Amino acid sequence: MNTDLKEIVEKLKRYLEFQQSMGIKTVPAQKIATQESAPTVYEKIEPRTEIIDKKTNQADEDIITIEEPVNLFDATKTMTLEEIRGEIGDCTRCKLHEGRTNLVFGDGNPKARLVFVGEGPGRDEDMQGKPFVGRSGKLLTKIIEAMGLKREDVYICNVVKCRPPDNRTPEPNEMSTCEQFLFKQIRFIKPEVIVCLGATAAKSILRTKASLGSLRGKFHMYSGTKLMVTYHPAALLRNPHFKKPAWEDMQIVMKELGLPLPKN
Ligand code: URA
Repeated sequence: MNTDLKEIVEKLKRYLEFQQSMGIKTVPAQKIATQESAPTVYEKIEPRTEIIDKKTNQADEDIITIEEPVNLFDATKTMTLEEIRGEIGDCTRCKLHEGRTNLVFGDGNPKARLVFVGEGPGRDEDMQGKPFVGRSGKLLTKIIEAMGLKREDVYICNVVKCRPPDNRTPEPNEMSTCEQFLFKQIRFIKPEVIVCLGATAAKSILRTKASLGSLRGKFHMYSGTKLMVTYHPAALLRNPHFKKPAWEDMQIVMKELGLPLPKN
């Protein structure tokens, strides 16, 4: 197979797997069959360069620019992931430790250009000690692969490191106790882009009560790093209408990272 064809087949495979993971069971075969050139693999999304520009960022009320919360830790020191994990130790700082099987620190490439931040471990994550390994995690993996990346390329972690009972939203005191470790993880990894999966991660990092709908679709800034807010994979599983905007968000991220965008 020549390289172009291989690439098309690979992209089509990623696209179909992603669509399948989103619950779509059919493809418009007729439309594709009538096309003369290669089939349209993805919908084209115009990059939102105007909001990527730092100068316009500052003046735009919709864009949140936030500095690292230096009050939470010694900002003169950058701890390694091993040191951060060591500092957490056998944590009993909040009541979430009571129901924990395993603490879920984070997983992936310590030099990742892209970091995904979720809310907190669920049952599967608590059992395995790894983030996003359950149903939501499988969908997240599909999304990462649809972006042309592998799970090992990115880093995945959560705001709280222990499973909240019955997967409830972490309480403010649990988040404020644990999030220092997330900020340290981000400080060490220094990614080019952070993606907040869902409102809990967005609220923790951006210090906002704004709705997810109003936050998504554009870059905010956290400590000089571009930050995208999008729907949590669990929300995509519950509500397939969110899948299109979520994919639009990921295409803005892909553009920022210089990843090949789907062709028309
Ligand atoms: N949901 C999250 O927010 N994080 C996980 O690790 C798994 C599910």
